[in-house]
Amino acid sequence: MQTISDILPLREIRRQWQLDGKVIAFVPTMGNLHQGHLHLVEQAKKVADVVVVSIFVNPMQFGASEDLDAYPRTLEADSAALSALGVDVLFTPKVSDVYPRGLEQQTFVEVPGISYMICGASRPGHFRGVATIVSKLFNMVQPNHAFFGEKDFQQLQVIKAMVNDLSMNLEVHGVPTIRDADGLAMSSRNGYLNAKERKIAPVLYQVMCELADSIELGRRDFSKLISQATEQLNQAGFNTDYVDIRAASSLLPPGHEDTELVILIAAFLGKTRLIDNHSVSLNY
Ligand code: AMP
Repeated sequence: MQTISDILPLREIRRQWQLDGKVIAFVPTMGNLHQGHLHLVEQAKKVADVVVVSIFVNPMQFGASEDLDAYPRTLEADSAALSALGVDVLFTPKVSDVYPRGLEQQTFVEVPGISYMICGASRPGHFRGVATIVSKLFNMVQPNHAFFGEKDFQQLQVIKAMVNDLSMNLEVHGVPTIRDADGLAMSSRNGYLNAKERKIAPVLYQVMCELADSIELGRRDFSKLISQATEQLNQAGFNTDYVDIRAASSLLPPGHEDTELVILIAAFLGKTRLIDNHSVSLNY
């Protein structure tokens, strides 16, 4: 595995791959890799001849009061894990190369509508930061395939919309969420949880599964179900940001014609914000 921080040598390798007719897959990450990230890499390897993984903690997607400085950076361990999986290039660009004119002057990519709801309402500017960095990384790596986790369900929909709207020439793949044995979705932010919080954390998954079961069993009183789930989470010790039930493809409130729904939850445990989601199909 080669580790490359500069954009020019990456482009040079990319050019040679193209001449050799190689199919390129790309997995963007912010590092502190866990099995969820590594699963994306495994899926990427299945469709491509060469795999590029980026590690870049993107300042543009963090709000002023968020955890940019505290975000875990574990490059050595990440590099060893990716090398063991047979990744071809680990790309670790520098903030000063990615945003040479500073964040204030940076041209941005924004996917309207879908970026402003749910997590976007709680974290203004977040999805602008995500869409901008992902489109920049796509321009640097120029992959044929890119892999993203369904764990960040809204992010995946924002990226799919961006790729479609801007006619980007690549295929976006969503990969199911990898969980710990107790159901907690793996996340770099789980490391922030203290022992007591970590014990409570899987309640998020349990409440979400109960809610999904209720809908699949025929309940349609969504606002009551949402209040009950919120109450259960708060009772367990969470400070719930939102529990929502949306149409899976548009993320709009579901209409009668929508049969593929998604439950989306964000909740704080102490200072740690956890998110998760669960698809629900009404086609039964
Ligand atoms: P991050 O490093 O948190 O920006 O995540 C990088 C990529 O890994 C994103 O596409 C995430 O959706 C994905 N990812 C994060 N956690 C998981 C998980 N538990 N299972 C599957 N994919 C994940």
